[in-house]
Amino acid sequence: MSNLSHDGATLRCQGAGDTGAHLHALPGRQSVLGAGLTISRLLPHPKLRMIGAWCFLDHIGPVRLNDADNIDVAPHPHIGLQTATWMINGELWHKDSLGYEQVIRPGQLNLMTAGHGISHSEESPPQRSDAVHGVQFWIALPESCKDIAPAFEHIDTLPRQQIGQTQVTVFIGELANMCSPAKVYSPLLGAELVGLQDDTITLAVPTQFELGLLVTAGTACVDDTELGLDTLYALGCGRSSLTLTLAAGARVMLIGGAPYGKPVLMWWNFVGHSDEEIRQGLDDWENGDRFGEVTAYSKGTRLTAPALNAGTRLR
Ligand code: MN
Repeated sequence: MSNLSHDGATLRCQGAGDTGAHLHALPGRQSVLGAGLTISRLLPHPKLRMIGAWCFLDHIGPVRLNDADNIDVAPHPHIGLQTATWMINGELWHKDSLGYEQVIRPGQLNLMTAGHGISHSEESPPQRSDAVHGVQFWIALPESCKDIAPAFEHIDTLPRQQIGQTQVTVFIGELANMCSPAKVYSPLLGAELVGLQDDTITLAVPTQFELGLLVTAGTACVDDTELGLDTLYALGCGRSSLTLTLAAGARVMLIGGAPYGKPVLMWWNFVGHSDEEIRQGLDDWENGDRFGEVTAYSKGTRLTAPALNAGTRLR
């Protein structure tokens, strides 16, 4: 998706980098995009900008689209990041400037690497269900990889295993002896846990990883704390295992990663490491350079970047 609820401020984004197995509850901020699509933005959060290299997290829906409504996010650019899209219900139709056109369905992963620059659109496909429910993440590329060639990867079948009465799917990194084939550029973990029946499971996790939990449906607890919906729970680093209780029907996203270190800049749909880099991306988008064209998108014009005052110093 595009960052449509842009508020003009640029955040210097950094992981907590702290240790100790605390639990911070960070409520999401709700907004409505077109077609009645509700979004809860969990990252970046004023109190926590990143978890490992995970720098952006939107919980999309759940909503029911009216017959006339379709998701339609027109072509927009990205640099310096990867977008990871995960559907819980419904479909999204990705089209990009490399020529990829891909419908994503629940249980699959779309991983788009922006690197030096890519543009894409996201729409409802012609044949769609009424429901839309999903999650979109951005992953900041390490500075050494920020200018890599753009790429797009769709993974149809991911490693999945039932542990006790919980189904665990690993879409990024490694967990419970499962390893996702998705290509990422820093130590990361992304998994979805689904409660088949009420049960408690314990998962080994890398001690050096900052961890985060987001409940997207139902009732779940970590240790003895019940987790609310649309709230990101940041666990910091320092845990070697995680004990989770999921009620039947509960869904939990688990993310983690090694502390990112040097802060990144985020402005609109760009992740960068300097003011100049972000401004160059904006100039290139306005001038029609660098980001190619989403030739498969036929519904109209591409998105216009918000104004960035010449005098504004990005922080
Ligand atoms: Mn996007």
